[in-house]
Parts: sequence; C-alpha cells; structure tokens
Amino acid sequence: MKIDWKNLPFGYMPTDYNVRCYYRGGQWGELEITSSEYIPLHMAATSLHYGQEAFEGMKAYMGQDRKIRIFRWQDNAGRMANSAIGIKMAVVPDELFHKAIITVVNLNKKYIPPYGTGAALYLRPLLIGTGAEVGVKPASEYLFMIFVTPVGPYFKEGFKPMNMLICRSFDRAAPMGTGHIKVGGNYAASLVSLEKGHEQGYASVIYLDAREKKYIDECGPANFFGIKNNTYITPDSSSILPSITNKSLMTLAGDIGIKVEKRPVPVDELASFDEVGACGTAAVISPIGKIFDPDTNITYEYCKDGNPGPVSVNLYNKLTGIQYGDEPDPYGWIEIVD
Ligand SMILES: *Cc1c(COP(=O)(O)O)cnc(C)c1O
Repeated sequence: MKIDWKNLPFGYMPTDYNVRCYYRGGQWGELEITSSEYIPLHMAATSLHYGQEAFEGMKAYMGQDRKIRIFRWQDNAGRMANSAIGIKMAVVPDELFHKAIITVVNLNKKYIPPYGTGAALYLRPLLIGTGAEVGVKPASEYLFMIFVTPVGPYFKEGFKPMNMLICRSFDRAAPMGTGHIKVGGNYAASLVSLEKGHEQGYASVIYLDAREKKYIDECGPANFFGIKNNTYITPDSSSILPSITNKSLMTLAGDIGIKVEKRPVPVDELASFDEVGACGTAAVISPIGKIFDPDTNITYEYCKDGNPGPVSVNLYNKLTGIQYGDEPDPYGWIEIVD
C-alpha cells in the first residue's frame, strides 16, 4: 500500500476495518469489527424510505510526537444523541460511541496521514434505522457504525479565499424543522442549490433564514462567521447545525482578546465585515473572498490582496495547532488515542 499523503483528495478510500453495533429488542448489542464495506439491509428499512439517518464527522490527527489525537468527541456523541432524538431513533450511549472511535482508529492506524501533510483520518459515525416498516413510524432496530478514510484538505485550493453565492430560491432547512440536527435529509434538500452554485463557479451557497429571507443562515455544509470591530460574529438561528468547530473558534477568539457575538446577522451587514468565512471539521476555516447576491446584484468583497484575513489565519493556526498537538490544550479538548 502506497498512499500519496500530500495529494489526498477529500474522498472515500477503503481502509481495513469498520465497527458496527446493532440495536435490537430495545438494547444495544456488542461492538463488532468487520472488513466488509457493505451493509446487509432490509429493503423496507426506515432509513431508506423515511430518512431515519444521522451522521457525524470527526478527525483523528497524527502529531509530531507520533501520538494520535481526537478532538472533542463528547460533543460529537452529544450531537448524534440529539440527532437521534430529533428523528426518533435509538440513542447511542457515550461509552459505546467512545469505544467505537478508539477501536476503529486503532485498527486503521496505518491510514492516519503523517504529521505535516495537512491530511487527517476522517471518522464517519453513522446511525440508521434498519428495522422494516411500511407505515410511517420509527424503526424498532438500528445500526450504529463508524468507518474511517484518510482525507486531504476539503477544498483543493487549500486555505485560500473562495467565492460564495447567496441562495434565495432554495431553503436547506425550516425554522422549526431539522436544520439543527445532523441528518441526511438536510443534505438531500441542499443538493440542487449546491450544484447550481457549483455550476456557476461558486464553492458553495449561503442560505438565508427561511422565514424572512433577511438573515444569514448556514453556509453550505458549514457555519458562517464574520469579523469586524475586533468582534467574531456568527448567526444565531434555530435552523443552523451547531458546529463544534465554530464553538471552538468562539472560545479561541475570546482567548486572543476578540469579542464574540452570536446573534441574527442581516444580509446587508455583509458590507461591513473585514473578514468572513465558513467553518466546519472538514476544512476548519474556509475564508471567503467574494459573496454575490443575485437578487440585489451586489458583490461583497474581502481579502482583496488574495490572502485570508489576519484573524482567520490566527484562529485557523490556533485550532489546528491544538488538534495536531503543536499547541497546549487548555480546555481538555484532546484525547490521545495511542
Ligand atoms: C457538520 C456540519 C457543520 C460543521 O460542524 P462541525 O462540528 O464543525 O464539523 C456545519 N453545518 C452543517 C450543516 C453540518 O452538517
């Protein structure tokens, strides 16, 4: 096996093992280890028909000290529990979630990209309804599994400003819908608008609040933030997925003397930001260079010299520094797997 670590795409590559656990008869069974990339699934499983499906995304990082680190796994476990509750699935207990992570990372050690390549081992926890139903109701059986795959940076262009399109003709999620949980249905609902954005040359689209179309909501599959007046501002909305990256950036911003505001962000406030970006586990921070609003024909421009802004760079270095073990971890965000 020869992997070109420096040119890894953000895509799927087979690894040696994945781990699985079934919920049947009202309880979780034993964690199983398998090499199969396939799931035997009943054709009437609720995940296939009624969207009983939730997932998580996390990474394992190889440090310069050759120790393997995972980041804030309790937050991912908690979020997956909220997703399960939100679409009436069995909740995966924290201990099971943790055991699954440790087991799957240890079994696939040789796929963890070396320190210094900017790559990491991506972990994809998945929870699906496997029980057969035809009527609309929650399944009585579930599968929780984690597979892993080594990934390079999410955006091929790397840590460079990218362009975004404001999306006014589609909503990803409704104010009282499922936008706040990490379920596949939200992603299905975003695909047409995301592809339209890509066809027009944009890296992603920015959704507005579905009720008034006045405030910034989610930034494709990532959270939005803007910087101005020494303040980190991120939207408060019931249809945004609470990003663990965003939560961490808010804490780190405070540490370097930057104020933090979480509140509704009107679209026209885009004109007043010095820096804007999207954030999530996959890319950490994606700095935004331009935002085009097709309705008003306004283009908001940032990073006019072609480089990400200083606050974004600083926060990016701080957070990735903690994740790779180059910086101290004052908040206990890291667990060393091995
Ligand atoms: C997963 C996800 C994010 C990012 O969350 P992180 O915990 O930072 O990875 C943001 N928005 C949406 C819609 C997501 O699904």
